[in-house]
Amino acid sequence: MDRQGAAIPARVESASTFDYATTLSAGGVSVGTVEHVLSAAFGESLDNCSIELDGPEVPILDGSALPFVRLFHAAGFERLNVPVTRLSLSEPVEVSRDGRGVSFQPDGPGLTITYEIDFPHPIVGRQELTVAVRPEEYSTRIAPARTFGFAREVEALRSRGLARGGSLQNAVVLDESGILSGPLRFRDEFVRHKILDLIGDLALLGAVLDGHIHARKAGHALHIEFARALAEAAATPAPAETASPAERPRRRATSRR
Ligand SMILES: [Zn+2]
Repeated sequence: MDRQGAAIPARVESASTFDYATTLSAGGVSVGTVEHVLSAAFGESLDNCSIELDGPEVPILDGSALPFVRLFHAAGFERLNVPVTRLSLSEPVEVSRDGRGVSFQPDGPGLTITYEIDFPHPIVGRQELTVAVRPEEYSTRIAPARTFGFAREVEALRSRGLARGGSLQNAVVLDESGILSGPLRFRDEFVRHKILDLIGDLALLGAVLDGHIHARKAGHALHIEFARALAEAAATPAPAETASPAERPRRRATSRR
């Protein structure tokens, strides 16, 4: 179908999520699996770009964000004479459900992410990692981490007509006890990819933020819910002055350009 010229803003209002990926929709047009290319952009501090696509889904490539990072560097970056959009939040924000959750603590400068996963699998198990989200850390520690899944899930997806491009070349594929897809790029590649995905979903805020984010056993749906909660907190007007202004910051949250 020809959708020439249709533009979809990469904003949290346009996002819907499935178990495995984030989709953007606007004006009856949808683009799937946007999280890895948007993660590469956010991770490399690229905040002004237009991505042209002639298909319904961003190519999975090797299952990581590294090919996108390399392409961005090959194209080169241009410093714009415009202040970056910054989400300024002075109070914690949290979303959680069934022992899974994502929380934000205003603790700048810069953005730090701690992610924790616990998969009952001998290769995965419990993994936790903290990274500062800045280009040099992102491109070496996060961007190369590939998506992962279980062979039985890939079969189930294929039977529903999904993940047709999925193969041992573009994901870490696990069976019940081991890895089918060859050596890992990092021993904790799994938690690194979860951070990659979260950064891609946070890119939909269209702003940078300062603080520490903790995520525990989350996924795209919770990431997007969290990004919406952050955007909402930033848009909430300052609360009225209270009797103890020292305990209550006058401006709870502001968004400034
Ligand atoms: Zn992913």
